[in-house]
Amino acid sequence: MREDYDVIIIGAGITGLISAYELTKRGKSVAVFEKTDYIGGAIRPFKEDGMWLEGFYHHLFKGDSVIFELAKELDAEITWHTSKIAFHYLPDDIYNFSSPADLFRFRKLSMRERIKLGKFLAGVYWPVNADRLASISAKDWIISKVGGLPYRVFFEPMLNAKFGEYLEEIGADWFLGRLKMRSSRTWRGERLGYFKGGFGSFTERLREKIEESGGRVFLGSEVSNIITESGHAIGVSLNKGRKFYSRYVLSTVPPEVLLKLADFTGEYRDKIRKLEYQGTICVLLATRSKVTDYYWINMMNKTLRFSALIEHTNFQNPSQYGRHIIYLASYPGKDSALWNLSDNELLKEYLKSFKESFPRFSDDLVEWAKVFRSDAAGLVYRIGIRQNLPDIQTPIRNLFIGGMLNAYPKRSIDTCARIAARCAEKMAL
Ligand SMILES: Cc1cc2nc3c(=O)[nH]c(=O)nc-3n(C[C@H](O)[C@H](O)[C@H](O)COP(=O)(O)OP(=O)(O)OC[C@H]3O[C@@H](n4cnc5c(N)ncnc54)[C@H](O)[C@@H]3O)c2cc1C
Repeated sequence: MREDYDVIIIGAGITGLISAYELTKRGKSVAVFEKTDYIGGAIRPFKEDGMWLEGFYHHLFKGDSVIFELAKELDAEITWHTSKIAFHYLPDDIYNFSSPADLFRFRKLSMRERIKLGKFLAGVYWPVNADRLASISAKDWIISKVGGLPYRVFFEPMLNAKFGEYLEEIGADWFLGRLKMRSSRTWRGERLGYFKGGFGSFTERLREKIEESGGRVFLGSEVSNIITESGHAIGVSLNKGRKFYSRYVLSTVPPEVLLKLADFTGEYRDKIRKLEYQGTICVLLATRSKVTDYYWINMMNKTLRFSALIEHTNFQNPSQYGRHIIYLASYPGKDSALWNLSDNELLKEYLKSFKESFPRFSDDLVEWAKVFRSDAAGLVYRIGIRQNLPDIQTPIRNLFIGGMLNAYPKRSIDTCARIAARCAEKMAL
């Protein structure tokens, strides 16, 4: 028998779930198809000893107003904490960077360079020539503002950690947007939010609300094709062979996958083809003791296997987990040797780097370890990408696309929530 819905959504990440919630709230019949056996996509929520954790570290930012509204509506509590941030240089050399004042204690640069850097960071809200920034790399722009050494010591390791082999191709306008977003810290540090009970409690609340209003969320259901008729999207086929029909289709999948599902042509196809997602690896450790007092440490030496150490339990109370929770995170290229290691080999490599950076740490402090990797961790924000981002409305009528692939400059859950709300508004008509 033919199954018909008002809207079919491909992917049960935050964009798919929020769009489904908004649509079912307006009385629309919705089906969400998710290829994995969990909801939450790039958050990768999972339960350990009855507590939600994220496979990939997550927090909320002060300006995440759409998520705050939604949390209120869903009765999901957000707790706020001042986060301590640091830079780590080998061997075991840590600089606190929690507040703007810490810059002036950064002995790796001369006082003259620190002042120059301070002025640059304080000036991110000043007017800029947007056209010029859209056409140059972050590297060239930063060097023109602060000079080569501050770039190499301060910015390059961070860009390298986030973008690896793409480091020199990252656009200056994206970088400025990022700086603005992260410059809202007070003299005590940046306030970051977290869902009480974990991000999994929020995504589960969304699922409950969708299902209460008659929506369906199908797990283990990979979409293999978007069915079209006379230039209109009319449904999807699953790789198990079943077909489902709808008035609208929303895709929230990565660009590479989207190109396989939909028959785009010409300029639009080229636009999607130019978008590239990067991969990420997070090793999650449960330990018997804490390693530092910081929430987030940028690991500044390129020789290390991971580029950020995130002590979740310096942000959330460790007593709720009965242990300390630590992420070792990196964004290696998908062709790199690291990406192709097995989970066991990866774990060994990461622990080796961990002990090299923190000689006080030893393997017997680890209670358990899990390796999470995703080849869809967000766009590589190349020079000029802003002009190339695809609109939510595609040339195939009634087919919309949204999520990380058009989130700019922040690939955050709040940006995805905004995009989801815009898609839902169009499809509720
Ligand atoms: C390491 C890391 C840390 C992050 N930290 C933060 C943070 O601290 N704060 C913040 O705000 N944001 C953070 N983000 C970003 C945030 O997680 C994403 O912006 C957001 O989750 C993206 O949601 P999405 O629904 O657009 O995409 P996704 O979550 O990628 O969802 C897409 C879904 O589509 C499914 N899918 C793919 N192909 C198919 C198919 N053929 N058929 C059916 N389903 C399919 C996928 O399995 C996936 O579930 C982080 C991201 C990463 C990777």
